[in-house]
Amino acid sequence: MSPAFEQQQIGAVTVLYGERRGRYPHGNTLIVRGRDQSVAIDPSLGLVARGPNPPPVDAVLHSHCHEDHFAGSFLYPGVPWRFHEADLPGIRSLDGLLALYGYADPVRSAWGKAVVDVFHFTPRPDAQPFRGGDVFDLGGVTIEAIHAPGHTRGHCFFRIEPDGIVYLADVDLSSFGPYYGDHWSDLEAFEQTLAMARTLDARYYATFHHIGVLDGKAAYLDRLDRFTAVIADRERRLLAYLAEPHTLDEIVQHRFVYRPQDQIVFADPVERRSMSLHLARLLRDGRVDEPEPGRYHATRACS
Ligand SMILES: [Zn+2]
Repeated sequence: MSPAFEQQQIGAVTVLYGERRGRYPHGNTLIVRGRDQSVAIDPSLGLVARGPNPPPVDAVLHSHCHEDHFAGSFLYPGVPWRFHEADLPGIRSLDGLLALYGYADPVRSAWGKAVVDVFHFTPRPDAQPFRGGDVFDLGGVTIEAIHAPGHTRGHCFFRIEPDGIVYLADVDLSSFGPYYGDHWSDLEAFEQTLAMARTLDARYYATFHHIGVLDGKAAYLDRLDRFTAVIADRERRLLAYLAEPHTLDEIVQHRFVYRPQDQIVFADPVERRSMSLHLARLLRDGRVDEPEPGRYHATRACS
């Protein structure tokens, strides 16, 4: 194994860091070992890069059904794969997964090829459901699923005891901010999840991407509040842009989620979905109106 592969041990949990400490498309996989059973949480491309013989486990737990979180699950063909029941359709078939993203062609077909070729998508019609509140007892070590929707419908955190770890998956505390750009994403559910996340007491807060593991609630809340503030910042920038009337196509081209120079195959549909969610809220609240069909305008001066 190359020394480039970082790992961190916290009690029963081994964090296997991905390339660039798990920056997308890479990610950080957790191996949790109890007296009776072991599980892998979110097998990533980083796990794949470590070679064909990953740490043996009895089951694979997924925080949600996204390409980077199941990219290494194919290394475990003989054990149960578990997802929150709401995300289960995404792993049962490629069509189910592509419906979750909700991209239209030509992005849909290009992305369908990428999730197979790059992220090793492997349909598992026999994947097993879990629900929020379910507890997996590994023998002296427990993993509790905490339903935390918004990013996807079934997105979950996992609380691992007795080590005092909350694994936050894609509430990844990055400066990019919350991702709610899929058909199955929901802005208001995400905001409720972030409010719930503020109440979680733990010693360690682990994320799937490059922020890694934070030690202590103060460091966690600092990051969480900055992460949460990205939502209001996008909305503020949208309102300012709508000081002049614009169409949704123009909003998509302007870019509020990604930077204009970011070359990302799914950037347009993600901008469209994300900013549609903001626009719907602003229309509902009367902060934006539609003076002519398809053109949106802030109803009062914004800076
Ligand atoms: Zn995700």
